[in-house]
Amino acid sequence: MIPSILSKDTIVALSTAAGHGAIAVIRLSGPEAISIVQSVFKGKNLQKQASHTLHFGTIRDAEKILDEVVVTLFKGPNSYTKEDVVEVSCHGSPYITEQLLKLFLRQGARLAEAGEFTKRAFLNGQFDLAQAEAVADLIASDSALTHQVAMKQMRGGFSQEIKALRAQLIHFASMIELELDFSEEDVEFADRSALRRLISSLQRLITDLLQSFEMGNVLKNGVPTVIAGKPNAGKSTLLNALLNEEKAIVSEIPGTTRDVIEDEAMIGGIRFRFIDTAGLRETLDTVEAIGVARTKEQLQKAALVLYLFDVTSTTPAQLQEELDALNLPAVPYLLLGNKKDLATPEQLGSFGSFENLVYLSAGKKEGLEDLKKELLEQVNANEAITGDRTIVTNLRHYQSLQQTSDTLIEVLQGLDSGLTGDWLAADIRRCLYYLGQITGEITTDDLLDNIFTKFCIGK
Ligand code: GDP
Repeated sequence: MIPSILSKDTIVALSTAAGHGAIAVIRLSGPEAISIVQSVFKGKNLQKQASHTLHFGTIRDAEKILDEVVVTLFKGPNSYTKEDVVEVSCHGSPYITEQLLKLFLRQGARLAEAGEFTKRAFLNGQFDLAQAEAVADLIASDSALTHQVAMKQMRGGFSQEIKALRAQLIHFASMIELELDFSEEDVEFADRSALRRLISSLQRLITDLLQSFEMGNVLKNGVPTVIAGKPNAGKSTLLNALLNEEKAIVSEIPGTTRDVIEDEAMIGGIRFRFIDTAGLRETLDTVEAIGVARTKEQLQKAALVLYLFDVTSTTPAQLQEELDALNLPAVPYLLLGNKKDLATPEQLGSFGSFENLVYLSAGKKEGLEDLKKELLEQVNANEAITGDRTIVTNLRHYQSLQQTSDTLIEVLQGLDSGLTGDWLAADIRRCLYYLGQITGEITTDDLLDNIFTKFCIGK
């Protein structure tokens, strides 16, 4: 457990976004938070007021009134940072906030560093490191799903899982270490087969968490989705229909979408980054030749490929030929039979042998709901959407879990080769170290700096 290190410094920062607004909030935290505000506040004596109370008054620089404000008091340890915290709600003018900040600095506060409020909250035991990181994720969340995952992590769901894993390993490490004390007597307190079972079950849980990172990554960064197909298949029309705005150029001349257009759409809370490409076609036209090369390049970056073809002018044999020529990367793909509004029942019936096929009409906006369902299906978003599963979204956590998993394999190998207790215990301690880094039982200054400097000031 990290000892509480209540700071001597009182920090101050603007906690609301910069710019004009109805109100702005300046936050102070530290031993002098209340006295600093009191020194420029005309109203009640703040030092005599109870925690979690609000007080109206004016902030004055000498006799000049800078603003009418509402002061909120949180007395440590019942505050975000566990220190005395004062929030001053003033009018949201950049001039006023700057004047108030300068005044508080003159009265002895210092400007907070990025993430310093949250760092203090962590160091004072308000929450663990994974929860602190989730605060930043929550602020950055821009969809129902990223919000849901960050909220679960902030409220400690992920931390509980990691702590439960650690607790079980600690138990074993201490049993093995106990054996070492009795090494003369050749006793085995730690049942080796139980340890093996424990490691297998930990590996299953960790593998599950590691696999969830793929979804975590999808949530944070979106799914790069390439829309490919021959010229005139309707790629730009589909992209427009999905984005519901006219960003790509639509034209009847084959091969006019010459460049790569990338745009985003939120579907079921997942961000799809659509990449429309120039028609895939061997061509002598140099501008388009660049486009074709780019398509192939983009395909390599795709996590999902939508291959669009015109059902009215493509035979199943041609479609197969196109797909063979395309050399699709090993990612999920959907075949989209477009222009179904113009197709005969025979044409629609002739593609029965193809899997992952969706018929639609991009032009008439028909079949788009089915397509959206399929898109979510392809990226396995359903578990994420129901919220049952813990999803790792943080690369740092992913790496620590990977290191834990690698070390668990070493423990298993050690058990197989009859490694002595002291070595086994050392390997288990290494697992504990890696797991502890996630929740912050194990930290270094560099690690903390790395995490908190990515926060914004005032957080
Ligand atoms: P791209 O070259 O693959 O980007 O194809 P476009 O999106 O430019 O579409 C080529 C032509 O097909 C345009 O005239 C579109 O209006 C038309 N088109 C696209 N989708 C449909 C559809 O579902 N039905 C019909 N009838 N026409 C479509």
